Amino acid sequence: MPRVLLVAATTGYQTRAFADAARRLGFDLVLATDRCHVLEDPWGDHAIPVRFEDPEGSRDALVAAGRFDGIVAVADRPTLIAALTAEALGIPYHPPAAVARCRDKYVARQRFQAAGLPVPEFFRVTIGENPVAAARRAPYPCVLKPLGLSASRGVIRANNADEFVEAFERIRTILESSDVLIQREEHNRYIQVESFIEGREFAIEGLITAGQLQVLAIFDKPDPLDGPVFEETIYVTPSRESSEKQGRLVGAVNCAVHALGLTHGPIHAELRLNCESAWVLEVAARPIGGLCARALRFDRDSTLESLILRHAVGEDVSAARLSDPASGVMMIPIPKGGVYEGVEGVEQASAVACVEEVVITAKEGQKILPLPEGSSYLGFIFARGDSPAGVEAALRQAHRCLKFEIATALPVVRR
Ligand code: ADP
Repeated sequence: MPRVLLVAATTGYQTRAFADAARRLGFDLVLATDRCHVLEDPWGDHAIPVRFEDPEGSRDALVAAGRFDGIVAVADRPTLIAALTAEALGIPYHPPAAVARCRDKYVARQRFQAAGLPVPEFFRVTIGENPVAAARRAPYPCVLKPLGLSASRGVIRANNADEFVEAFERIRTILESSDVLIQREEHNRYIQVESFIEGREFAIEGLITAGQLQVLAIFDKPDPLDGPVFEETIYVTPSRESSEKQGRLVGAVNCAVHALGLTHGPIHAELRLNCESAWVLEVAARPIGGLCARALRFDRDSTLESLILRHAVGEDVSAARLSDPASGVMMIPIPKGGVYEGVEGVEQASAVACVEEVVITAKEGQKILPLPEGSSYLGFIFARGDSPAGVEAALRQAHRCLKFEIATALPVVRR
């Protein structure tokens, strides 16, 4: 029975999807996480505890845990421990230096630039610096972003110096919040400034084998992402762009993968396309996050997770093709901060033609935060159909059926 190590930052939905896939494949999946105390952990005492702020120590603990035939990581932070462990055990996986480059937006930009990929103007500023001085150096419009967070958390557009200073202060507060400080990551001391790239946005899901990119899906993001914050909403595949434009997108990601030095495992890339070029925003050395992978179904009823597990143990999955003519997901945005109280209309939304599933992940009583401070969603809507346009329309119609109740959170008054 192949034994696969899964390094994960949470014990949530995505981890469970891998556990289900492993069970169906007959693989033994061993979880390593820093959340072993979480009660809902389906692994109970069987998970190997690791500490993401101590990658080398975690690697040693995992190497001592015995033989593995493959390694998979979900979310950005676990990729480094996965890469170090794979290197120590001689298992094919992206090299540690490559995953470290993916996790730092400044280093990644430098690599892209050196490889001749188009990059926006960019520089980084330490959070202790005076934002007024930095605002004078910025190209406008620009985007300010933390170097190592994800899901658009802390990414803000500024059109002028005043907006720059306001955005800077806001991002500094996020980077100085306890949940970020606890990560003890050097790159969280910086804010990156980039010129704003006009254009439509796309995501590419892929697998790298011996440095070669296999594209699993190209997603269109049909909602404009022009700021001031950049909320992910709808992803639809296949892309409706011409094959020439899709070729440019894939070509850019291929070049970025080489520039970063990624060699084996899943990737998720985000990029923009305009009349000038295809611009890679980032390549993450992991699969698409949250529940979004459910939007992808491959032949023989395979899920993305099962493809990744089979690939991790060295199986040839190069023939994998999407099985639906079109499919998509909507990440349901948080309209305002507060306390989530409930939702109406799930039944109507689920009954919309082409809609396969509506999953509300927010829990009653949960405090919710919209972007740029927050980074989660209220839930996900999945649809499948004959055409990308039909799938997109179904997702929008289903979303209109949902009425969320969010109570205003009262500020805590300390005396
Ligand atoms: P994260 O890793 O948090 O998702 P990204 O760098 O991918 O951070 O940025 C999140 C989103 O912000 C992107 O998907 C894009 O919509 C927008 N964005 C980031 N950088 C730029 C840029 N230079 N120009 C235009 N939009 C950008």
